[in-house]
Amino acid sequence: MYSWAMTLKQQCSTLWHSPCPLCQAQRPLNQLICSACWAALPTPPAFTLDPDFTVLYAFYYTAPIRELILKIKFAHSLADTQLLAQLIALRLTPQIQDKPDIIIPVPLHQQRLRKRGFNQALELAKPLANALDCPVSTAFIQRIKATKAQSSLPAAERMHNVQQAFALLQPIPYRHVALFDDVLTTGATLGTLKQLLQTHGVERVDFYACARPLL
Ligand SMILES: [Zn+2]
Repeated sequence: MYSWAMTLKQQCSTLWHSPCPLCQAQRPLNQLICSACWAALPTPPAFTLDPDFTVLYAFYYTAPIRELILKIKFAHSLADTQLLAQLIALRLTPQIQDKPDIIIPVPLHQQRLRKRGFNQALELAKPLANALDCPVSTAFIQRIKATKAQSSLPAAERMHNVQQAFALLQPIPYRHVALFDDVLTTGATLGTLKQLLQTHGVERVDFYACARPLL
């Protein structure tokens, strides 16, 4: 009984005094990160390409967001994945006026998925989907071609690289789809996916992402 009580007390004390995962300063229990780190997160202004195509980025791809993404990609840090996913949901949810019917993460090719073990875009989109009360699913679109990294190609070859890179796995019973990726997706990839969805009856396609490069 005594040891149980001590354990509980220690657990409570750990929770109340948890350090901020970004700067190690003390943070309140009900906050993911401390107020100073939250205020300092690099946030781009919201913008809309046209009224029918909303593009939202939660953050700029710079410290500390860049470091979190790299730790997720290369160290497969689950704690960092959950932290960044919650931060994305907090940042994007208030900006989304026209809620999508489903969030579809940009798919990875099976080879890359096997190598990495998880699709980080799917993991990062889950709390946002939860906050918007819509499903998030990778069951609809498949990457059928292991495309070369877009950044390694000249602009003229990028469109060719992604054409026919994706295929629909089953009919999409949704009117409004939001695609989601961890970092900026090239215009060519986004255009190809948007066209694929619209060809199969989706009326509206938006795009949300964790981070875009700092220009
Ligand atoms: Zn902090």
